Amino acid sequence: MTQPKILILGGGFGGLFAALDLGGSADVTLVSDSDHFLFTPMLYEYLSGEVEAWHIAPGYDELLDESVHWIQSAVTAVDLTSQTVSLEKNNQTLNYDMLVLAVGGVTNYVGVEGAEQYSLPFRKLHHADDLRRRMVEALDRIPPETAPQDVRRELTFAVVGAGASGCELSTKMADLLQDAFKRRALHGEPRVLLIEMGDRVVPGMGEQIREFVDDALLKSRVEVHTQTRVVKLTKDELTFEHQGNHETLKTAGVVWTGGVKMSPLLDQLDVQKNQRGLLIVNNHMQLPEHNNVFALGDIAYYTDATPTLAGTAQLAYQQASLAAHNVKAFLEGKELSTRHFEELGEAISLGTERAAVLTGGKAFGGALARQARFALYTSRLPTWHHRLRVGASWFFGGKEPRPLLPLGLER
Ligand SMILES: Cc1cc2nc3c(=O)[nH]c(=O)nc-3n(C[C@H](O)[C@H](O)[C@H](O)COP(=O)(O)OP(=O)(O)OC[C@H]3O[C@@H](n4cnc5c(N)ncnc54)[C@H](O)[C@@H]3O)c2cc1C
Repeated sequence: MTQPKILILGGGFGGLFAALDLGGSADVTLVSDSDHFLFTPMLYEYLSGEVEAWHIAPGYDELLDESVHWIQSAVTAVDLTSQTVSLEKNNQTLNYDMLVLAVGGVTNYVGVEGAEQYSLPFRKLHHADDLRRRMVEALDRIPPETAPQDVRRELTFAVVGAGASGCELSTKMADLLQDAFKRRALHGEPRVLLIEMGDRVVPGMGEQIREFVDDALLKSRVEVHTQTRVVKLTKDELTFEHQGNHETLKTAGVVWTGGVKMSPLLDQLDVQKNQRGLLIVNNHMQLPEHNNVFALGDIAYYTDATPTLAGTAQLAYQQASLAAHNVKAFLEGKELSTRHFEELGEAISLGTERAAVLTGGKAFGGALARQARFALYTSRLPTWHHRLRVGASWFFGGKEPRPLLPLGLER
């Protein structure tokens, strides 16, 4: 007897964890444009060398057994009427009985002139590699005898958007650059700006954790500019506006963490969406128009979730298990379940030495929080086998940052 075909699009927090739960229940295929999963909350530690690629970006080869087929290809079109999906690879067309949409978001440059062309995004492993290389190249261009004010001008980096991502990234960059300054005996200081349109940093996080964030930004000497809007980027300049005044700075690199929008794949779907373009799903995670199609993670709007969970891995991860449960129930003709999604606690890395963790209503920071964050995240990595390998590696091998060495010595 042929098994029903379940097709999962996207292999991130939603798609991969759904595939792991669904494996063996039907003919399951995962399609992703990459060959690995990415544990995004630790991309900052990958930038600083505190973790290795294999820790946070295990290949699907390692994670999935023969109960799930996987195909590496971009999905170019989804036709919900004919129940087919088009792939870039070999112009292949796949048909499905059940579809799980989990393609996530992409960087949103909100129409700022030059932003897409000249800033660095920070969502993928290779984005972190590009940023690290950019910092090393900027350092390598500075002769040791250069005057402090010239060094500062040549080593100005900016991070746009002071959500959790911008705060984690700017503190990490500032610590790495300052460490490199000492090692290379450069004069003066590097300059890292954090630019935010709103009036405060980490607007989505509670007061308790914000105190640790503010303290870390200060200690890492990140220059915070709130109520400031980036209006233009060129290859090596950034123009911002604050209270009607415009200023242009020379920059060695600008990283854009200023927003996320839905995957362009969703534009072609003629289904209900909210104002942000998220697919509206019912409380079983199905599209109301097509009950054999489920959507989850960053692209889905599900009402019964704590609002601060929107756009988080925590939510996608929890939804994956509900979606997988309901796909199986649907195929077996059983009743589908619903669930309220709760905050599982917050953890944020702040530079190379500190972090802050909020759990059970209490926040704590410092070196202890850094260790707790590693422990917490080990437990959330996919598969027991991978968790054990990574946990052992961190426990026995340590997780110290890798300094920004001259390009020839970097690996
Ligand atoms: C740097 C960074 C740090 C973060 N830190 C945290 C954190 O600390 N805590 C937290 O809760 N959340 C964090 N997030 C948010 C979290 O990563 C997302 O909310 C989560 O990944 C959403 O899961 P998803 O499955 O919807 O999408 P994703 O995990 O983004 O997965 C989408 C997948 O689809 C693939 N894909 C996309 N388009 C196509 C296509 N056309 N064809 C084929 N494949 C495609 C992508 O390659 C990817 O594998 C962070 C995000 C970033 C970028």
